[in-house]
This record gives sequence, structure tokens and C-alpha cells, in this order.
Amino acid sequence: PSRIADLKIVLVGESSVGKSSIVQRFQNNTFSEGRSSTIGAAFISKKILREASSSSSPSGGTSLINMQIWDTAGQERFHNLTPLYYRNANVAMVIFDLTDSSSFQKAEYWISELKEYMDDSDEGSGHKKMKIILIGNKLDLLSRKEDHDGGKLRADSFEDCSFIDQIDKFLDSHEVIIDRFFKTSAKLNIGISELFNYIIDNVDEG
Ligand code: GDP
Ligand code: MG
Repeated sequence: PSRIADLKIVLVGESSVGKSSIVQRFQNNTFSEGRSSTIGAAFISKKILREASSSSSPSGGTSLINMQIWDTAGQERFHNLTPLYYRNANVAMVIFDLTDSSSFQKAEYWISELKEYMDDSDEGSGHKKMKIILIGNKLDLLSRKEDHDGGKLRADSFEDCSFIDQIDKFLDSHEVIIDRFFKTSAKLNIGISELFNYIIDNVDEG
């Protein structure tokens, strides 16, 4: 490759929203029911080759993207993710469960924490802004049984989310802070590759 870029991604969100499952789906393309929050690596790395056609690589040539994904090992329960955890992160994935409105309120809380952290570390650091991506996981649980068709989901399953109005309102009022919103199912492998491809295609090469 003609260039190498580091990409640090941190995962944030309430316990059991599916953070580790999303990482597992991306890393191994597998899913486990009922995994324990204490199981799973706190840190995974993966190397990805990005082709020259990507919009972030206007000068051409292939780039090696050195991805580091930081998962929590249950410490999110105690709300004590320290600034050390976010330090130098390029992307924060803030994850909630589409069937659990309290996990969404928690996501709002994390986003305000991240914003505060970014404002504090902004001054004179010259560090590139961290992108915040909001993710509503467990999309499969919103689909009605009769709509299941060999694992496929109706495209509009999201409409069945009971707090969709809150999500819309939050997105409208945080347009500047939230880079993107994705709906995913780690279980049925929906939206996961779109999510990671979006991130990989939009890394700035430093
Ligand atoms: P974490 O605590 O945020 O890391 O959450 P986990 O990845 O450990 O997942 C918590 C529970 O939710 C486990 O029982 C998973 O099997 C389940 N889970 C994770 N993602 C999904 C999903 O997309 N759909 C469904 N139905 N269950 C999921
Ligand atoms: Mg976990």
C-alpha cells in the first residue's frame, strides 16, 4: 500500500445493547445468543486495504487502514469510561437497543459526555474531530413475526420502534454532532457492513 492510516473506533452504550455482538459480527461474521458482558476482547485490531477509488483517497493508491476497535468489558455499567478510553479516537459508535427506550436515553447521555470531552480537548490540540455515529441495534426484534421471510426484514421495521419520535427529534437537534445514524441487527447481519464500510470510506488520512 502507498499509505497507512490508523483508525481508532470506540464503542459506547448501555450494557447488553449489542456492542460486543456488533464487533463479533464484523470480526468473524458470527453471532451468539446470550453472551456474557465479561466475555469478549476489550480490544480488536483488523487491517483493511482501501482501494484508490474511495472518496477519501483522492490522490490515488491503495491505503492500509489499521483498525483498532475498543469494546468495553462491562465497565459501562459503572458509567466510568474515562477520557483515556476515547483519547485519539477517530470514531465513537454510540449504540442503543431499538426496543429499549432507556438505552436510548443513555445514548443521549453518552453523546453529551463525548461532546464535553471534545470541547475540552479541542483547544490547541490540532487533533481531528472525533466522528460520532449513533446506532440503533436489534432491528430484528421490531419486525412482526408474519413479516419474517427467511431472515429478511421489512424495510420499514424501524417504523415500529416505540420511541421513533424521540429519535427523530434528537437527530434533528444534534445534526451538527452526530455524523450518521444506522439501524442494525447483529443477529441477522443487517446494516453492519454498511456501518463499517461507511467508516472505512470516510477516514481521513493523516
Ligand atoms: P453488550 O453488553 O452491549 O456488549 O451486548 P452483547 O453484545 O453482549 O449482547 C447482549 C445480548 O443481546 C446478547 O444476548 C445478544 O445475543 C443479544 N443481541 C445482540 N445484538 C442483537 C441483535 O441485533 N438482535 C437480537 N435479537 N439480539 C441481539
Ligand atoms: Mg459487551
